[in-house]
Amino acid sequence: MHTKQFIGQGNFCVIAGPCTVESEEQIVSIAKAVKAAGAQMLRGGAFKPRTSPYDFQGLKEEGLAYLKAAKEATGLPVVSECMGVAELPLFEDVDIIQIGARNMQNYELLKAVGKTKKPVMLKRGIAHTLTEFLMSAEYILAEGNEQVILCERGIRVFDDTVRGTPDLLAVSLLHERTHLPVIVDPSHATGIAKHVPPMALAAAAAGADGLMIEVHNDPQRALCDGAQALRPAEFETLMEQLRKLREALSCS
Ligand code: PEP
Ligand code: MN
Repeated sequence: MHTKQFIGQGNFCVIAGPCTVESEEQIVSIAKAVKAAGAQMLRGGAFKPRTSPYDFQGLKEEGLAYLKAAKEATGLPVVSECMGVAELPLFEDVDIIQIGARNMQNYELLKAVGKTKKPVMLKRGIAHTLTEFLMSAEYILAEGNEQVILCERGIRVFDDTVRGTPDLLAVSLLHERTHLPVIVDPSHATGIAKHVPPMALAAAAAGADGLMIEVHNDPQRALCDGAQALRPAEFETLMEQLRKLREALSCS
């Protein structure tokens, strides 16, 4: 699977799923729900970068196995975060390797994923400039891997009402400076579920090539990032609005 086949040049790619894989049943049922709503890919973290070392750190290998089961059950390609070079060999069955915001400048990891033949979704760090972001992408490209997807996931600004601020201007600024596809993650960018749909629509209107959205069937009991997760029905409504918006803008 090459990025050219599923993102950019009119292909709008929606990646959806829980922040973290919690059980086989959880990830399979969410995978079915997001697929039915029209998502093209499934997300789910097995290795989780948490601010506190006492928070749930992910199911690790077991989580990747459940993600594989969800991929087999639905046919959806899967996206999952790799946090270190040592774990990279475990990502054989993961279709897109996510490099998280915290690892945007982990140059050894960037070089290692650059040596793979897999698409890499690189998230922008919370306080990094677009030039730094693009230089990190360059580390992957320089190793011969041209399949890089940039993900704007919110930056830290002086206002702390919500988790972050989606830098939607980054979409067109990045498109001006690179041919790489740019997606927006309104879930981490806001941290609160009710603000996710408007920012997702705004990102699509701003020209993003896709979105990454956290969806959970029981957000109140989620082990990670429940406050920003959309329920499947809310996600379905958003997908319908996105279809209408893209049609009105003649993108689809
Ligand atoms: C995530 O996608 O769950 C995640 C941890 O994202 P970020 O690296 O943007 O914080
Ligand atoms: Mn998350």
